Amino acid sequence: MNIHASPAAELLLDLPREVDTEVAGDIEKESVFVSPFIDRIRVEPDMKSARLFLRAGAPTEDVVAKANRFLHVMVRQVSGFEIKVFVETRRRDQGPYQLGVNQGLIERGWMHDYGKGQVAYSGPVLRLARLINEKAGELYAKAFAAEDAHFPALVDAETLHKCGYFDSHPNAVTFVGNMVEDFDAIEEFRRANSCSEGAILPPQDHIHVDGMCLNPAACFPCYPTLSGNMFDEGRAYTWLGRVFRYESRNISGLDRLYEFNVRELVFVGDDAYVRACRTKALGVVEELASYFDIDCRVQTATDPFFATVSAAKKFWQAAQEVKNEIKIPSLDADGNVKQLACGSINLHGNFFGRRFDIKDGAGEAVQTGCVGLGVERWLLATFTQHGFEPERWPADVRAKIFA
Ligand SMILES: [Zn+2]
Repeated sequence: MNIHASPAAELLLDLPREVDTEVAGDIEKESVFVSPFIDRIRVEPDMKSARLFLRAGAPTEDVVAKANRFLHVMVRQVSGFEIKVFVETRRRDQGPYQLGVNQGLIERGWMHDYGKGQVAYSGPVLRLARLINEKAGELYAKAFAAEDAHFPALVDAETLHKCGYFDSHPNAVTFVGNMVEDFDAIEEFRRANSCSEGAILPPQDHIHVDGMCLNPAACFPCYPTLSGNMFDEGRAYTWLGRVFRYESRNISGLDRLYEFNVRELVFVGDDAYVRACRTKALGVVEELASYFDIDCRVQTATDPFFATVSAAKKFWQAAQEVKNEIKIPSLDADGNVKQLACGSINLHGNFFGRRFDIKDGAGEAVQTGCVGLGVERWLLATFTQHGFEPERWPADVRAKIFA
């Protein structure tokens, strides 16, 4: 037995009710945010209890109480919806799914993993990323006459608050910290680092957070630019957005990054326009999946939201079919097929129209919708489905990326 590697303690807690695999997956994923003293929470095979992996020095009573509060919130999630499938494509490539894509890309020198949820890439990976982005942009231009746009990667807290991000995903926010404007503090920081081996961070009271954040959802920075505008007819905008979601210990290769790129499309107009856009978006995803010759599916989403609003939001999304997820099969570490969420198609109703004072031709709060494609997950799924042998890739893609 390896004493050093063994966790400080394990505890078994009863769940308030029996859960299904979807809720169990959410519990495990979100468990990294519960307490610094909890390593993981794992739902037991009976689906009625959860195993708590405590770290050394944990104040057991407090931590267990916290874990129980967390579990009570998580089991309130509504699940077990009928999932509607809107688009399904099947690849022509007959080869097996490739296991160990992340490692394979690193070994070939096409990707560097910094180990903190960020990657650098080059060669065929970079060319494929560009191709995914350009192809999507091309299809958006053709189907929606979408205008090209560009937005910053920093976003202020006021905008995120208006977008409702703090009450849906508070755990994923990254606040930017700056040195206080204080000569002595700045000098102390400079001197400490001028001869140090490694980086020495300033003490916490020398850093201030003034509300700038790293943007966590591609479409948010676009809405302030539309404030006060009136849309007589529908319009669409598209761009490549840089997105940051703090994932704590859940980061894992291209599967779950902290920093990634999203090809985004936002459409703004009346109800008929945004609904027509959603239908067109289904066709665009289908065309994109066929171009890369991948198995892919667009279906009703039941996106897990953190904490108390989760139940209501989940129900609302599924019932209204306002959020569709783009699922591309990939492999987990053990070689089992898993459905990787590679993007989503969302109808927001007039939520952003109201929050940002954007009007339609009749003077009402405008309707909006968006499509986001996670470029790095498309990379992972495409390499998983075609592997590292260029011959297995569709001819047009092969010529562009393995040149
Ligand atoms: Zn969006």
